[in-house]
Amino acid sequence: MDEVGRYLEMGYKAIRAQSGVPGLKSTYGVSGDKLFYEPADANLPTENIWSTTKYLDHVPRLFEKLREKFGFEPHLLHDVHHRLTPIEAARLGKSLEPFRMFWLEDAVPAENQEGFRLIRQHTVTPLALGEVFNSIFDCKQLIEEQLIDYIRTTVVHAGGITHLRRIADLAALYHVRTGCHGATDLSPVCMGAALHFDLWVPNFGIQEYMRHSEETDAVFPHAYTFSGGFLHPGEAAGHGVDIDEKLAAKYPYQRAYLPVNRLEDGTMWNW
Ligand SMILES: [Mg+2]
Repeated sequence: MDEVGRYLEMGYKAIRAQSGVPGLKSTYGVSGDKLFYEPADANLPTENIWSTTKYLDHVPRLFEKLREKFGFEPHLLHDVHHRLTPIEAARLGKSLEPFRMFWLEDAVPAENQEGFRLIRQHTVTPLALGEVFNSIFDCKQLIEEQLIDYIRTTVVHAGGITHLRRIADLAALYHVRTGCHGATDLSPVCMGAALHFDLWVPNFGIQEYMRHSEETDAVFPHAYTFSGGFLHPGEAAGHGVDIDEKLAAKYPYQRAYLPVNRLEDGTMWNW
């Protein structure tokens, strides 16, 4: 609750709200005391425990409280992290309808694209997907059948700027808008390129902006800025992001794994 208030104070107009789930020791998407969230947090994988029942009970209450406290002006988003089945995601989308979400992200594993038909039949909560997609063919069915509202492909994963433009043009025909992935595991170079793409794209929806650490910002001096809730690519030539190789050499590679996710009975589950 306090974190959402903190981002509103910084001028953010749309905030993805994630939280711990009562009864579960740890989960994804929660940054703690930092302004960024880095899930790859250990030299060898740590373990998260997951309960769909506890999660589905908790999330609608979280958004009820957020709307009570902050009203309906800020856009609120939520990432499911591919952890539900289609019928469970349909239930979640339905239960979140009173809180008018900007989007529900990664509701089910992205490989199961037909699953989105079932979710769509049951809820008008807007759906976002595609941060792990690599080409226009990964997006084709979801866009052509109008199963999603936002396509989350990024410059670096989905074939570069030209290919991303092709995806955006296909999406525009079906009222699907863009919402490029912008987590901190994507470098400032990717952010700079994404912002130039965003400035061009007619069916722009939103740009994810998770702040990099001060160290990362220093290694990648960049022209883009964040002010009053808006990102701007700046006036520099090209994507406007440089790399300070001397400074980068001060930070040797450190192995870091994503956690393993298990159900309470030990079954492996989707991260
Ligand atoms: Mg996500």
